[in-house]
Amino acid sequence: MRLHASKEEIDAVCDRIAHFGYKIHTIQGEERVVIAAVGVGDVTSCLESLEAMPGVEKAVRISAPYKFVSKEFRNSPTKIRIRDLEIGGDDFVVMAGPCSVESEEQIMDSAHAVRAGGARVLRGGAFKPRTSPYDFQGMEEAGLKLLAKARDTTGLAIITEVMSDSDVPLVAEYADILQIGARNMQNFALLKALGRARRPVLLKRGLSSTIKELLMSAEYVVAHGNPDIMLCERGIRTFETATRNTCDIVAVAVLKEMTHLPVILDPSHATGKRSLVPALSRAAVAIGADGLLVEVHPCPEKAISDGAQSLESTQFQAMMRDLAPYVSLWKQARLASEPVTV
Ligand code: PEP
Ligand code: MN
Repeated sequence: MRLHASKEEIDAVCDRIAHFGYKIHTIQGEERVVIAAVGVGDVTSCLESLEAMPGVEKAVRISAPYKFVSKEFRNSPTKIRIRDLEIGGDDFVVMAGPCSVESEEQIMDSAHAVRAGGARVLRGGAFKPRTSPYDFQGMEEAGLKLLAKARDTTGLAIITEVMSDSDVPLVAEYADILQIGARNMQNFALLKALGRARRPVLLKRGLSSTIKELLMSAEYVVAHGNPDIMLCERGIRTFETATRNTCDIVAVAVLKEMTHLPVILDPSHATGKRSLVPALSRAAVAIGADGLLVEVHPCPEKAISDGAQSLESTQFQAMMRDLAPYVSLWKQARLASEPVTV
């Protein structure tokens, strides 16, 4: 719709779309309303009819199977507000903390350390997707309570994983961002439940998933009612064994071309090795990611999960210092609204 289209004009357009048999989804942007028509119908006459209506800026056919998350649907970046921070806007947001919540002391130490390093969000899994059923499965609700305590003490927002649709209401009670793990990227019952959740979502790319499949999964969440979703590249499975996964770094730039959603890079799972995390984090800034999800542990050799890829607290702080000049270039580019890549 045009800027400042009236409610009557918007309602009339919705009626017209319904007349053609499409389902209607409206998205109220900061400046304008975008109306999506989803379904099967006579596209050409519908488009022609809409083009002629008052208040309509443009009627376009979106051919990609992912509609709401595509740039054709919305050209301006999605900015997700969480407490006092914004993801996808003018800040490079770092989320950091241990793979799993293990104890009060561990999560509190982690929270203080990552905050001192400049992280804005504390990560920590309370429900853990483990390859072996004999491995530590997480502290569950007790872990969520510890995360909430860490938030109260430090002011950091909390991101934590939710593994099943039935856990969404519980995890959403505590978390500021719901993390969907790589192994659950195509858990469609979970994606639908996230659509109903009133919390932002971070969706990780599946181990063997294409970029298109990642976007289709994000589309599920938006189509079911939740537009606050960010994507996360965390490495994919290839023949290479030198790193735990192979980081598809260019996926960040590809996603930035295809979608308006924020894109986060996880250099910890992408490499599996703490020594490689700072280099990959610099690459994430350079390629235009909106932030990082990094594993940090006060004592990585004692970590119950993912110790080898976790930075020790002082290593994280050093990495953040080294990253600062890159981040300020990133910010200049954002503020000038120029693409970060040249
Ligand atoms: C995690 O973030 O600790 C995790 C389990 O990640 P992924 O789902 O990417 O393997
Ligand atoms: Mn982990």
